[in-house]
Amino acid sequence: MTDIPDVDVYQLHREPKGTTISDTFDVDIEVPVEFPRQVPNVRETGCRIPKDFHTHPDGTLCLGAPTRLLLLIQKAQTLPGFIDSCVVPYFYGFSHREQHGALPFGELDHGLPGIFNDLMQLFDVRSIDAVIPMLRLASIPKREANKQKCPCGSGRLTRKCHNIVLNHLRSSLGRSHFRQQLRLLEDVIKWSRQNCS
Ligand SMILES: [Zn+2]
Ligand SMILES: [Zn+2]
Repeated sequence: MTDIPDVDVYQLHREPKGTTISDTFDVDIEVPVEFPRQVPNVRETGCRIPKDFHTHPDGTLCLGAPTRLLLLIQKAQTLPGFIDSCVVPYFYGFSHREQHGALPFGELDHGLPGIFNDLMQLFDVRSIDAVIPMLRLASIPKREANKQKCPCGSGRLTRKCHNIVLNHLRSSLGRSHFRQQLRLLEDVIKWSRQNCS
């Protein structure tokens, strides 16, 4: 891990839909050596972000669902790019809520529902039940996935349905990412079944 203490003042100034927000936050960004293949840990050190606003139990900020973050980081490639596409929007949202009473783009889903919703969007499916089977297809080779029935419910083979979406995600993030996400979600589901019944 590399600590970069000098990114603590980053000018926050954005104007989507005509709303200008100027604000300053103190942040601590821990950049893993695997960056941009792994998401940096970001903490707000000025005690302005309350625990119930998109933070993880370890105090790091919940900047978004893991798969989406990795895609954004991969597009950005650099640390300033990561700050621009993942960190600034987070603080923009927080300041907007503080100043105008609501998040600019609606309330974000948090935790597990957030991850499922995000994957539904990324896989372009309408049913939450399609998420796990889609993850499974993204974690196996293209040739094998193409021969299987598409989990979206169209009744077609993946080759003639969601193959473009799947191929894109697979080649962007690699099968191991989806295998990891699949294992994680399956574990959480198993855990919640055992603990809620
Ligand atoms: Zn969150
Ligand atoms: Zn499909």
